[in-house]
Amino acid sequence: MTDVQTLVIGAGVVGLATARALALAGDEVMVLERHGLIGSETSSRSSEVIHAGIYYPRDSLKARLCVAGRKALYAYAARRGIAHRRLGKLIVATDAGQAGQLDAIAAAAAANGVEDLVRLDAAAARALEPELSCTAALLSPSTGIIDSHALMLALQGDLEAAGGQVVLNTCVAAIEAVPGGYAVEIAGEGGYRLTCRRLVLSAGLGTPALLRGLAGDRLPRFGLAKGSYFRLAGRAPFSRLIYPVPVPGGLGIHLTLDLAGQARFGPDVEWIETEDYRVDPARGAAFEAAVRCYWPGLPEGALQPDYAGIRPKLGGPGDPAADFRIEGASGHGHPGLVLLMGLESPGLTSCLAIAGEVLDKINEV
Ligand SMILES: Cc1cc2nc3c(=O)[nH]c(=O)nc-3n(C[C@H](O)[C@H](O)[C@H](O)COP(=O)(O)OP(=O)(O)OC[C@H]3O[C@@H](n4cnc5c(N)ncnc54)[C@H](O)[C@@H]3O)c2cc1C
Repeated sequence: MTDVQTLVIGAGVVGLATARALALAGDEVMVLERHGLIGSETSSRSSEVIHAGIYYPRDSLKARLCVAGRKALYAYAARRGIAHRRLGKLIVATDAGQAGQLDAIAAAAAANGVEDLVRLDAAAARALEPELSCTAALLSPSTGIIDSHALMLALQGDLEAAGGQVVLNTCVAAIEAVPGGYAVEIAGEGGYRLTCRRLVLSAGLGTPALLRGLAGDRLPRFGLAKGSYFRLAGRAPFSRLIYPVPVPGGLGIHLTLDLAGQARFGPDVEWIETEDYRVDPARGAAFEAAVRCYWPGLPEGALQPDYAGIRPKLGGPGDPAADFRIEGASGHGHPGLVLLMGLESPGLTSCLAIAGEVLDKINEV
């Protein structure tokens, strides 16, 4: 007999979506979160973009779960009254050499089932966004933005309505396999152990430390890729999201809008060794140069340091882009345990589809 049927470690958007799905399927579910608030690490430091599913390699988890997750997320947001807007986005080529990259992006998108991209010449793109400078563009009408905090509150609400609970200020120090399930050791004075039959490790940046005991030498290589943002002082010049062609490790310094219409630029890519969320104002010069490629009208000194997030990468600098890794017993040999690794973008978009994947994996033997 265990204390709880199913434990989920981590109350980010993925942990909450997963716990909700398990509770709706009839499990007794408890989510353990080390902070005093849900979603206070990576899930509150994203661009809040609902991605269409354009860039990812064909048949990858990122491609499949982003396309399915995007459809599920729009439907869920509409049903639950979560603020969101299907603004659309433009991916822009800013010199003739990048036009071929747009073709490759369009082909990758079609292979992933994203059928609604529209190729635009410079004049058509400028007709949509008069301040834009480009040689050609792709319009993605199904890209949008969402209030990620309202989303997480809705997921938590559903979880609790189905009998589950989120336990805050509870940091898991270690996990171990025990007969009939798993034991988790809670950190701190008077630390205690909880046992469960099934365990989902959805701890984002906290995952590598918790995996060490279980995986030993099989631990994959984890990396931290920080992304800083700069906000625009003043009115947004565009009504759609504007992305350059992607760069290694990220999507290039793009413009996103929040639901209040405020523009911000980023995130860039900076490999770091330890978690540090400060935004270095000195990075502003590289932002200005990158933004002026597609918005020459950017006024001097209009970019202000904003916030930063950290991508929990599988791999490090120079490694090929890794897929999401969602592992059940067929991957690691521990029945009832699901490990979630490398859940960088598009993890927010994909959260409901990732939850479905975990439901499939948790019954593997
Ligand atoms: C800069 C940036 C921009 C992004 N933009 C987008 C975007 O526009 N669209 C999109 O789809 N995706 C985006 N993403 C990706 C998206 O934010 C993530 O995929 C998603 O938030 C991951 O959610 P999660 O629940 O896995 O992780 P997290 O939000 O990190 O949640 C993990 C939770 O586990 C908790 N935890 C960790 N260790 C322990 C422990 N030992 N004990 C208890 N609790 C613990 C943490 O406190 C945290 O709350 C972006 C990511 C970054 C970094």
